[in-house]
Amino acid sequence: TTEAGRDFIRDIVQADLDSGKHAKVATRFPPEPNGYLHIGHAKSICLNFGIAQEFGGTCNLRFDDTNPTKEEQEYIDAIEADVRWLGFEWSNLHFASDYFETLYGWAEQLIKAGKAYIDDQNQEEMRVNRGTLTEPGKNSPFRERSVDENLDLFRRMRAGEFPNGARVLRAKIDMSSGNINLRDPVLYRILHAHHPRTGTEWKIYPSYDYAHGQSDAIEGITHSICTLEFEDHRPLYDWFLENLPVPSRPRQYEFARLNMTYTLLSKRVLNGLVKQGFVSGWDDPRMPTISGLRRRGVPPEALREFIRRIGVAKANSVVDYGMFEFAVREALNRTAQRRMAVLKPLKIVIENYPEGQSEQLEAVNHPDDEAAGTRKITFGRELYVEQDDFMENPPKKFFRLTPGAEVRLRYAYFVTCREVVKNAAGEVVELRCTYDPATKGGNAPDGRKVKATLHWVSAADSVEAEVRVYNQLFSAVAPDATDFAAGINPQSLEVIADARVEPSLAEMNTGEAIQFERQGYFCRDKDSQPGKPVFNRTVGLRDTWAK
Ligand code: ATP
Ligand code: MG
Ligand code: MG
Repeated sequence: TTEAGRDFIRDIVQADLDSGKHAKVATRFPPEPNGYLHIGHAKSICLNFGIAQEFGGTCNLRFDDTNPTKEEQEYIDAIEADVRWLGFEWSNLHFASDYFETLYGWAEQLIKAGKAYIDDQNQEEMRVNRGTLTEPGKNSPFRERSVDENLDLFRRMRAGEFPNGARVLRAKIDMSSGNINLRDPVLYRILHAHHPRTGTEWKIYPSYDYAHGQSDAIEGITHSICTLEFEDHRPLYDWFLENLPVPSRPRQYEFARLNMTYTLLSKRVLNGLVKQGFVSGWDDPRMPTISGLRRRGVPPEALREFIRRIGVAKANSVVDYGMFEFAVREALNRTAQRRMAVLKPLKIVIENYPEGQSEQLEAVNHPDDEAAGTRKITFGRELYVEQDDFMENPPKKFFRLTPGAEVRLRYAYFVTCREVVKNAAGEVVELRCTYDPATKGGNAPDGRKVKATLHWVSAADSVEAEVRVYNQLFSAVAPDATDFAAGINPQSLEVIADARVEPSLAEMNTGEAIQFERQGYFCRDKDSQPGKPVFNRTVGLRDTWAK
């Protein structure tokens, strides 16, 4: 069922169905396989696939593989996996390269109709003669070539007779058009390169503009949805459809791309981050790629919900990164089981707890979900608490562990700090404490209150773990895409090598979200080794982003 009026594109689709202009809506998501998908693509995926779902139509996944020098099978595979992980399945899988023969035939038809010509100008000459926004372009000296000569040259281009860049096929439209896209755009260029699907069969490749609309038409796409940069290309998109015997008439609609604070969403930049080693790969958890977010522990439903909330508009804007984290936190709060983990351990010894003994206590797995059940945790004489939960000389409002203070250990007992043990350098290395056996479960029979409840783990039973705490990859709210290396946050990753976690965490499956109580949401990373798990912090418990 459709909520009418949710955004202007859905309104258009609804109107086209109501008027009978289309019996069924057909959309497509058309990535170029020149990198991994990022969160901006997720917006386009949710829009295209979402519309197909909501209106009972179809959505194709089409690889826009017209630029073989930048495209790889690895990217094709990753894109398919990412679309599926986001929760969508395509109606049909297509490749623009499947249409190369058809597109070529149509180009010959344009030549025969006197609507396209071979230009021998080099790139620089073409650029200069294209003019500017205020200066009309100049006709190419090759513009009036005969149809026969154009056809002959085009066929020889296809046959591979000429080197890269020697000549191009251009549409003959209008060199003085106010829209520069209509100033005789390039349809084909010579490229001797290996294509992931067609190998070396082709020596010429269609431009994005020439391939895109015709591919839409071949597939019967009704609404070809793209980002605002393509608004000025729409007259060209329509020109091809009007001048070629295409089997259907798609229409292009533009929406505002997703931009986020502290983030650069451009495959060129993301590729640079990977290639120059600023991150460990496309799936580095600091990357705004779908695979990075997945590895970081972001659930797909959180991503979809975030995209639903930001909506679809016609004007560009920048979304606060905190809004994304809010959606992640909300989803994880609902689903993530709770566990205890001590990121920076400080040993405490419970002096009045019998040596060599321990006991099993019961801990709740999810406070709002009884079905998640309980688990046993081990309490004993030696425990770890968080270094940050102790201060020898506390300020006034510090209610956690201090000399003489009593606090609650979650699911366990009240303990009191009796003595601080330091090393030769004067650093606190251990606390000597006592516990009150009458407070088992966390309440005192005499009604005595404590102001803090701390998480902890058993020293003997806990497992050592590496914890990776991520911060924003770029320091600036609006990083500079032209000099992204300079904007990298040197503190984007903090590795804690010797955290201590409940033993049950060592057996978790990769990817499963867990809340480390009082710390945030974490998931096990694929770098985990037997006996040495690695955890990624997905997001902290509170919004710590500068406002
Ligand atoms: P980039 O600019 O990051 O290199 P792209 O536009 O070249 O990306 P494509 O693979 O060509 O990437 O894009 C596939 C689809 O995703 C296109 O329809 C494009 O408009 C859309 N898309 C790309 N970036 C965004 C974004 N930031 N927000 C919304 N949609 C996007
Ligand atoms: Mg692109
Ligand atoms: Mg782009």
